Amino acid sequence: MKYTVLGVLLVAALAGFAMTACAEFDKPVIKEWTKMEPNEKGEMKEVRYMTIDGVMVHETDPALQPPPPVVTPGTESTQEKPGLAPSDAVVLFDGKDLSNWTSTSGAPTKWIVTDGAMSPTKKSGMVQSKQEFGSCQLHVEFATPKQVEGDGQGRGNSGVFLMGKYEVQVLDSYENATYPDGQAAALYGRAKPLVNACRKPGEWQSHDIIFHRPIFENGEVVKRATFTILHNGVVVQDHTELSGGTDWRGSHAISNYEPHADKGPIRFQDHGNPVLFRNVWVRELKD
Ligand code: MG
Repeated sequence: MKYTVLGVLLVAALAGFAMTACAEFDKPVIKEWTKMEPNEKGEMKEVRYMTIDGVMVHETDPALQPPPPVVTPGTESTQEKPGLAPSDAVVLFDGKDLSNWTSTSGAPTKWIVTDGAMSPTKKSGMVQSKQEFGSCQLHVEFATPKQVEGDGQGRGNSGVFLMGKYEVQVLDSYENATYPDGQAAALYGRAKPLVNACRKPGEWQSHDIIFHRPIFENGEVVKRATFTILHNGVVVQDHTELSGGTDWRGSHAISNYEPHADKGPIRFQDHGNPVLFRNVWVRELKD
């Protein structure tokens, strides 16, 4: 009897596992058709065609299946020299000037350029790109001050704001304890990075951010923003869904999504620390 009960339980558990293991996916949309076409000898032959989700399967004719655009990749940066952006990127800062940037009020920014890097000055406030972006790939390099001053959130603090709103934290998190949801590469106050991949103070670092904007309908968010981030080439946010705003509203208060336009500026934070930025470029993505 005892074994029978155990057997029933085992069968029930296996059935439950089988049900949960059988995931639901959208079925691919497959279309197939044939067409009479002349071959290379001029003889009419039946040619088979097939699409999966609108992509022509194994089609080499560019008139039927346009190939992806060709992009010349950029070059890697070194500590001494910034790399080049990919050929289709919008270069926002190449070390020369701040012609693509403004203050948040629209007045000229008080940020400065020194030795190919841009940085805030005393009480300069945030700087923002004149061009606005929605979903995008963003490359930013930054260096926190070599001369370490302060600790926690007071040490090399800045931030990269997508659409002027959603903060990817910039902080000197090299042997500098703070709350994990506010360390470098955190989605501030919302998501800690998978690992701490910070370089030493004064060294050039990078954030490569793949951002998909939130979608709003009738004043409600219907698709949340997502972030994939490589900090110094290490994945630290893996398609992280942002659960709401990243604004500071007090130590135990959070902000919700608030509807906004489809595009917004890239902003860098002035948190009172002279953090340097260089080699900033963006590639727009489809939502
Ligand atoms: Mg910050």
